[in-house]
Amino acid sequence: MRYQYNLGPHQKIYLDNPAPNTVITLASSGPGQQQQSGTQILTGVWTEVPRAVQVGDGVLIRCVTAQGAFIWQVQGTQILSDNAAQWPDERAVPLQPTEVGSAMGTMAPMAPMGPMKMGNMEMSASPMTMRMGEMTLSMDNTNVSNAKKFCPQCGTAVDPSDRFCGSCGHQLR
Ligand SMILES: [Zn+2]
Repeated sequence: MRYQYNLGPHQKIYLDNPAPNTVITLASSGPGQQQQSGTQILTGVWTEVPRAVQVGDGVLIRCVTAQGAFIWQVQGTQILSDNAAQWPDERAVPLQPTEVGSAMGTMAPMAPMGPMKMGNMEMSASPMTMRMGEMTLSMDNTNVSNAKKFCPQCGTAVDPSDRFCGSCGHQLR
């Protein structure tokens, strides 16, 4: 889950927890420009929703993990680790869950390949099948070996285009 805090109409802070790290992204947008800066810190997994509090010259962000509390001060475009900062708990507000904004340079690890669906198209990896609407494509290995022919006389594998068995000479067609 990603959380956001609105610093102002043009500046947002995003907090993400791709375990065991906390990623803080500062996104600011102005007329015709967009800026992102961020930092990634080894913290562990959050045990509660991160919170923020407005202070005189910026904002304090705090997240709590099994390792303890981590506090950062966000000032202008800077994110400073400040675990010694005074935390005015009574004024702190929880960050809002969000799906918007991307954590800098991090991507969720690929989920194990399961059936994938896009509109009326469906794909799965084993056996390799693809379904589009009413049509199903299968790349199952057993279908491939079924294409082989065998001589009815001696059982030797023969090419489907052969007229005679290469081993015993039995007429195939
Ligand atoms: Zn034969």
